Amino acid sequence: MTRTETARGAAGAVIAGQRIELLDRARIYACGITPYDVTHLGHAATFVWIDTLGRVLRLLGVQPEVCRNVTDVDDVLDAAAGRAGAAYDEFAAIQQFGFDQDMAAIGVRSPEHEPRAHRYVTHVIRLASGLLATGAAYQRAGGVYFRGAGVAERAGLDRPAARHLSGEFGGRPDDPAKDDPLDVAVWQAGEPGHPAWDSPWGPGRPGWHAECVAMALSVFGPAMDVHAGGAELRFPHHAYHAAMAEAFTGVRPYARAWFHTGVVTIDGAKMAKSAGNLVLLDDLLAVHPAGAVRLMILDRPWAQGWDYRPALLDAAAIRLESLYRAAARNVPDDPAAVDGLRRLLATDLNVPAALDLAAEAGGATARTLAGVLGLT
Ligand SMILES: [Zn+2]
Repeated sequence: MTRTETARGAAGAVIAGQRIELLDRARIYACGITPYDVTHLGHAATFVWIDTLGRVLRLLGVQPEVCRNVTDVDDVLDAAAGRAGAAYDEFAAIQQFGFDQDMAAIGVRSPEHEPRAHRYVTHVIRLASGLLATGAAYQRAGGVYFRGAGVAERAGLDRPAARHLSGEFGGRPDDPAKDDPLDVAVWQAGEPGHPAWDSPWGPGRPGWHAECVAMALSVFGPAMDVHAGGAELRFPHHAYHAAMAEAFTGVRPYARAWFHTGVVTIDGAKMAKSAGNLVLLDDLLAVHPAGAVRLMILDRPWAQGWDYRPALLDAAAIRLESLYRAAARNVPDDPAAVDGLRRLLATDLNVPAALDLAAEAGGATARTLAGVLGLT
């Protein structure tokens, strides 16, 4: 008997090699999109995996409560809105509509909470005040900066690597207002071309990590069960998010488990609009059923990066067909096989092994798996 079976109503799952016990619900915070561009395969992979984590938890008797934010206050978004000649919020709302349609098309369930950053500005001001009060942040030139020297170390990065990543993700390591290049703005002083709100430090806007902290703490309180997002968000975004949340609340760890999904590359290169190598979800769904795209994403270890090739979709379509054939097989119910399936999925979402088991057992086992993977 597994622990899941012996403790009725209680369950647990192994996430990133670490077992977390869960009672009846799981708080999952997913870093959502910055709505300035179309959905590509990398976005789809992240949100299909987070969706599947929720479906697996539901199979285990745990109600997932997903909070997926919308980063609609963002410097990259401001620039894109400026180029389009639109107000940032209007532009974001239109992009968000397209993203929601894409998520629906690929079977990603709507999150229970979907906070938008622009509605949490007063929370960020409160967060900044709290961080100032504890000494974790300082006020300078109309901004509030979080002391970040310890964050890189905790993330296992040396200073040059941390500084490089900080620059790559808009952290402005060269900002002369900072005591240390690894400090980050909780509150950014106002600048032309960006929206601004009043604050005790003058007009300005929330910093990226801080707005996510404000939304996460407002929706779930001081800690969560799982914090999820693409692996590229591990540093600086998630490292600073956790550090700010813990400095503000005093509750450690901020997240019981981290669910960092592997990055999708094209010919070994990062997908980027500037590189012209974006694989758009729309384009894939125009020629392939959503089930094949989902299965291509899911038939692998979730934390591992992978390289997209069109042949993978053909292989996924064949695997999907064999799952459907197995599901249609008229075989007696096999509770041991369904339990085995549950165990495999509860152990770091071992989808490849679960697919093999379902194909062999057929019947209800295969139908259960098809449901859990969102393929029905
Ligand atoms: Zn975030």
